[in-house]
Amino acid sequence: MAGKKVVGVLALQGAFREHIKALEMLGIQSKLIKNNKDLEGIDGIILPGGESTSMGKMLMDFNMLGILADKITNGLPAWGTCAGMILLAKKINGDDNAHLKVMDIDVERNAYGRQIDSFVTNKIIPKISSTELPLVFIRAPYINNVGIGVEVLCKIDGNVVAAKEENMLATSFHPELTEDLTFHRYFIDMIYS
Ligand code: GLN
Repeated sequence: MAGKKVVGVLALQGAFREHIKALEMLGIQSKLIKNNKDLEGIDGIILPGGESTSMGKMLMDFNMLGILADKITNGLPAWGTCAGMILLAKKINGDDNAHLKVMDIDVERNAYGRQIDSFVTNKIIPKISSTELPLVFIRAPYINNVGIGVEVLCKIDGNVVAAKEENMLATSFHPELTEDLTFHRYFIDMIYS
């Protein structure tokens, strides 16, 4: 890979350390993002899992929401995992407010009923890899509806759980909680392409 790229990981709350670790394993330089100044000089950003309401509120309180949304709209590669996917969405079902409102997806929070609110499944996602990937869902959202420019990457039981729109990637599940680096590699390729 030519040219050193720096990947920011939003570090206000949630599972950001696991993403940093995965990037380290791939030899990619990462940067914790806690304020607007940290957003300078990054080549991509990961929005981790956690609690989307808290993260959205912090982004708002720290005046980061508009600046980050503009950067993504202007092409900064962004990957949201779980709560991070909710942050990217233009619409959250049953909620009049959304957060960054950059990706043309409608999401359903906590979409899996109580009994299966957390689960792991293995699946081949042909657009990503020819081998099975472990998919970890924790009180996960799924995507109810995708806009015309959105490519569906993976469905489970008919529900969209991974999608891509131009420079944006969204996954309901948490690749950073597994040993498998395929999704991180895929995102890094988006940054380099
Ligand atoms: N249920 C959380 C939310 O709605 C997301 C859970 C997660 O990121 N693991 O924000």
